[in-house]
Amino acid sequence: MDAAVVGGGPAGSLAAILLGKSYDVALFEEHQSAGFPVQCAGLVSDKCYKKLKEHCKAEKAIENHIKGAFFFSPSGKIVLEGRGEAVVVERKILDRLLFERAAERAKVFVKEKARLNGFRIITPSREVSAEKIIGADGVNSTVREHFGFPTMGFFTAVQVEAKFEPLDENCVELYFGGNWSDSFFAYAIPLGDTARIGVVSRSSPLRYLENLMKRHPSVSGRVEGSAVELNAGAIPDRLVKFSKRDVALIGDAAGMVKPYTGGGLYYHLIAAEKLAESFPDLKGYEKSYLKEMGREYRFGYAVRKLYSLPDEKLEQLFSAMADFDFRGVHMDSPSTLIRKAADISFRLLRKPSLAFYLVKSLFL
Ligand SMILES: Cc1cc2nc3c(=O)[nH]c(=O)nc-3n(C[C@H](O)[C@H](O)[C@H](O)COP(=O)(O)OP(=O)(O)OC[C@H]3O[C@@H](n4cnc5c(N)ncnc54)[C@H](O)[C@@H]3O)c2cc1C
Repeated sequence: MDAAVVGGGPAGSLAAILLGKSYDVALFEEHQSAGFPVQCAGLVSDKCYKKLKEHCKAEKAIENHIKGAFFFSPSGKIVLEGRGEAVVVERKILDRLLFERAAERAKVFVKEKARLNGFRIITPSREVSAEKIIGADGVNSTVREHFGFPTMGFFTAVQVEAKFEPLDENCVELYFGGNWSDSFFAYAIPLGDTARIGVVSRSSPLRYLENLMKRHPSVSGRVEGSAVELNAGAIPDRLVKFSKRDVALIGDAAGMVKPYTGGGLYYHLIAAEKLAESFPDLKGYEKSYLKEMGREYRFGYAVRKLYSLPDEKLEQLFSAMADFDFRGVHMDSPSTLIRKAADISFRLLRKPSLAFYLVKSLFL
């Protein structure tokens, strides 16, 4: 066998779909089906959706079409508006569609929790060896640990579905500030008359979520009744080294998420493409992924630092950015902010003490 992929989430299925075109591949998934348990808000950009459609009938998973976002300042008084096409997908369905596609290209084994003994994969019912092992087994990757790859820290995300009256039924809402998360943001993703409302933070996400729903000046009045379907999950906080000669990681196992949103699917798609193009050269896979995405990670980490600014500075930043025109800035590519460098600099130069504070916090 040329490659054994451990984990049948989106990263593992995509790797199996693309590698399975040209190589003999096996995919091991510990659960009966992919997409379980659901730990996702399901928001993917237009670019990501287009790529997903190359691999499965992703339109079957669509729950809503998004055309923009509202960004709330810590006090909730300043609301910036961004435009951008995206869709909300039902991850249970999407993961199943990708997994079924993977099964057309690779040997797929479900209810087969994989353990490793060197390069042998041992499951409850079989033992196989593969030339290359691809760890797509999520944030708590066994493959990462077994082969001594570095590990990362995590944010925790907690999300509920609740009746909600959105500002616009086709716009997501993002809430910044220390009352709603210690280091990230909270969100609401509309789905008709309900929304997925969630918080990403380093600690106590449930407490922040409760605070958001009960006390946020804009959110609290728009949530109705009690929440249903609580789910929680970990979001890796950084990309780690993810290739050795005969082993590589992909997806959350490698920390491949957008540093500034925690969204993983677009980055996994790019990684699966790079893996298939470079295979069997796994070091080449890491090199080509970093060549394409390295800049996005650097920009993404810088943007994320802004979330931890004191509320008063964030409020000033929101005020400086009032009526900012987000056109041309893509949600998957923070480096596109460069296109707006002149406008951003001009706005900040009008608030020199804020500009000085930002430079100090972000770069020194
Ligand atoms: C609350 C929350 C909201 C999110 N919202 C978004 C969003 O809106 N948009 C977005 O793009 N991303 C979002 N993400 C991130 C996204 O869900 C992840 O990046 C993505 O699911 C990771 O995919 P993966 O295939 O790497 O790992 P996983 O989805 O975790 O899949 C890993 C798979 O490996 C299997 N496995 C593990 N160990 C073994 C083993 N030993 N043997 C066999 N199988 C094994 C597991 O059963 C699982 O099926 C969100 C995450 C959270 C927590």
